[in-house]
Amino acid sequence: MDGTLNENDLSRVVAADKAHVWHHLVQHKPFETSDPRIIIEGKGMRVWDQYGKEYIDAVSGAVWTVNVGYGRERIANAVHAQLMKMCYFAQAAGSIPGAIFAEKLIEKMPGMSRVYYTNSGSEANEKAFKMVRQIAHKKYGGKKHKILFRDRDYHGGTLATMSAGGQDERVKQYGPLAPGFVRVPHCMEYRKEELGLGHLSGRDFGIAAANLIEEVILREGPETVGALCLEPVTAGGGVITPPEGYWERVQEICKQYDILLHIDEVVCGIGRTGTHWFGYQHYGIKPDFVTMAKGVASGYAAIACMVTTEEVFEMFKTDPSDKLDHFRDISTFGGCTGGPSAALENMAIIEEEGLLENCTVMGERMLGNLQALMEKHEVIGDVRGKGLFLGVELVKDRDTKEPVDEKDVVAVVGDCGAQGVIIGAANRSIPDRNNVLCFSPALIATAEDIDAITDAVDKALTKVFG
Ligand code: PMP
Repeated sequence: MDGTLNENDLSRVVAADKAHVWHHLVQHKPFETSDPRIIIEGKGMRVWDQYGKEYIDAVSGAVWTVNVGYGRERIANAVHAQLMKMCYFAQAAGSIPGAIFAEKLIEKMPGMSRVYYTNSGSEANEKAFKMVRQIAHKKYGGKKHKILFRDRDYHGGTLATMSAGGQDERVKQYGPLAPGFVRVPHCMEYRKEELGLGHLSGRDFGIAAANLIEEVILREGPETVGALCLEPVTAGGGVITPPEGYWERVQEICKQYDILLHIDEVVCGIGRTGTHWFGYQHYGIKPDFVTMAKGVASGYAAIACMVTTEEVFEMFKTDPSDKLDHFRDISTFGGCTGGPSAALENMAIIEEEGLLENCTVMGERMLGNLQALMEKHEVIGDVRGKGLFLGVELVKDRDTKEPVDEKDVVAVVGDCGAQGVIIGAANRSIPDRNNVLCFSPALIATAEDIDAITDAVDKALTKVFG
């Protein structure tokens, strides 16, 4: 592989990293006796670490991001050309790629109309939360300001998005949190007993799970609830696909109580769930806000978007003589033009290479492979997901569904890594344990890639659990 570091460079990079870099998510004490992984190159589905070891990346940059794969020259070239022409101007003005990408994006989102550029998923979600609050002030004297979020969902690492965080262990040490955020129950059929709905299945379960949201609305008072923020398929909270009938009922509930629907597509957006550009489009949802980030430019540039309807936009369309205010907000780097120019190429690649379709076909193959592993490995309690966005829940006992110990999940992830396949682990939150193996390979994955990933998982499960 080109670019492997020589020994001198390698020790310098590792020493600099260990001395000065604060890595995200991971604990650092182990780095006193071991080295962090440094990824130095990527091509297609594959990445190489500092020792030249090759991996299949089954999680698209660890956090479901690099949807079109690594090393896409046309994205780099487009960004280069744009930066040389005009790198930045605050979004108070427009830019050529900002305008063109907004038009292309809205073409894919019937019913939606306006794109607000920002640069992270958390920030996009915060913008929507701020709009909900401002709408409460504009229309309801500030009363209809509460934002409902769901157990297990994740919306970001900032204080307000954490306040809408359904994974307790990510939140519990950071209080006091922002007020006005209220939790609703999850909709996970595999763990329906937790919801008191163990006697229901299929559509009946889906509708009953949605009705649990209605109960919260009635308890809080519908006149105080401004919005409901949900992931179409929950990602980090355990890859939770919605049950049949759930979304239809959620939509009805929002309509009945005049509650704005905010769909967090930070993970699902831009093809991850296959066939459609967005997760919500599988379920006939009509959102008021859609937020997206990771797949928008596949990580080639930092860009996130908060997209609203014309109806929402109209509420903010003021001029200086109006009593009601405009949206008093800015995101400095929402004006970086590299983001939308990368996003335009990213979208063109997905279209030209038929990646929405490939994602569906390969997702079905992967789901089938993982389901087949259930026959062999008692430890697999559930396999679920949509498109190339899949999770495998590991349990000590299929009847009690007690999660396996976290050290065993770490061992499975580690063994896959040793075999040259990077996979992830997500959190099911109650109890505080990561017991869901996660897979989100790039949408370019081939049948050979998928089989190599699931073979590695098979071997790792045998090694760890016998
Ligand atoms: N929403 C969801 C569903 C996410 O998974 C994430 C990130 N993992 C975020 C929001 C926050 O995105 P960011 O890290 O870009 O702020």
